[in-house]
Amino acid sequence: MKFNTKTIHGGLLNVDPAYGSVMPPIYQTSTYSQSTPGGHKGFQYSRSANPTRTALENSLASIENGKYGLAFGSGLAAIDAVLKLLKPGDEVVSTNDLYGGSYRLFKNIFEKFGIKFHFVNMQDVSHIENYINENTRLLWIETPTNPMLNIIDISACSKIAKKYNILLAVDNTFATAYLQTPLDLGADIVMHSATKYLGGHSDVIMGSLVVKDENLAEQLYFIQNASGAICGPQDSFLVLRGIKTLHLRMQRHCENGKAIAEYLASHAKIENVYWPGLPSHPNHEIAKKQMNNFGGMVSFTTKGNVMTDAIKFVEKLKIFTLAESLGGVESLAGHPASMTHASIPKKEREKAGIVDSLIRLSVGIEDQEDLIADLKQALG
Ligand code: PLP
Repeated sequence: MKFNTKTIHGGLLNVDPAYGSVMPPIYQTSTYSQSTPGGHKGFQYSRSANPTRTALENSLASIENGKYGLAFGSGLAAIDAVLKLLKPGDEVVSTNDLYGGSYRLFKNIFEKFGIKFHFVNMQDVSHIENYINENTRLLWIETPTNPMLNIIDISACSKIAKKYNILLAVDNTFATAYLQTPLDLGADIVMHSATKYLGGHSDVIMGSLVVKDENLAEQLYFIQNASGAICGPQDSFLVLRGIKTLHLRMQRHCENGKAIAEYLASHAKIENVYWPGLPSHPNHEIAKKQMNNFGGMVSFTTKGNVMTDAIKFVEKLKIFTLAESLGGVESLAGHPASMTHASIPKKEREKAGIVDSLIRLSVGIEDQEDLIADLKQALG
């Protein structure tokens, strides 16, 4: 199957043998009757597996060109499961410009358990090897990064990971499988905050992992069941429904993202625009190589870099909603320094480019003329 067919049918053949419902039923149950101890139909207890969640996990594996999918109660719960593959003394090399919550999980939780993290600028992959030693177990990358929209060369990272026999995990939240499939580029694990584009309607919190390797899948299923950070059947249904229109939504997100990036780039009050589709973007060539298009996330800074100007701008927006999160049908605006990335110390975040005037837009699928008019009045 090709991608647009997979979003609708991938992993979902014969989802309801009982009545033939086209959508997988919502199995709102914690447990399943057994005819004799162990005499069940494949499901025993919904922390271990639930048919609605399994349908979603199969769909996720299909769209990411993987074999095994796992769904969790949030994106952070999915990342937490990956980190639990490690043990005290192990080391992780991570990109330095990553989602603030991932940074917080690494620094404030897993460092306490004796895991060491190196946060590295990976736009030039040659830096990575300086931080690898005999304790390194995991390369954690996010591309495009949140919120600077930097692009990391996944194939190049995979070569490094293979050379040192370490795992490569890619947070694919911003791109989704519509724009890039990291497993095809050599990654071992692809992770999503399914809260974002996969759900697509700002109505659910969820996370996912997809892998190809059976042994790795078994370890992750063990952690999923043993730690228990699973999602419920209602939320599984919502994300299954979201995935069915992923390709249509992403197509419009990309069109609107381009129009807005170009508008902002030509505006006199704007200092920098970060969108990987602009030829001026420092990683544009890598983006062209590994992505099918450039997405709907656009960040920018205003001239003078004044915090109060940024706050005034987001307050004046009418169609863009000032809110955390991204990837829904509606356009959102955020101020990373005081919102999503406030948990990163100022010095650390400014090193990564997250300055006081930086605004991040999640461009939705409304009419682009209305979105541009909204930005124009707020900038005015
Ligand atoms: N990764 C990225 C790139 C994100 O943007 C987010 C949330 O914003 C997460 C992970 C965490 O996901 P969740 O909020 O679903 O726990």
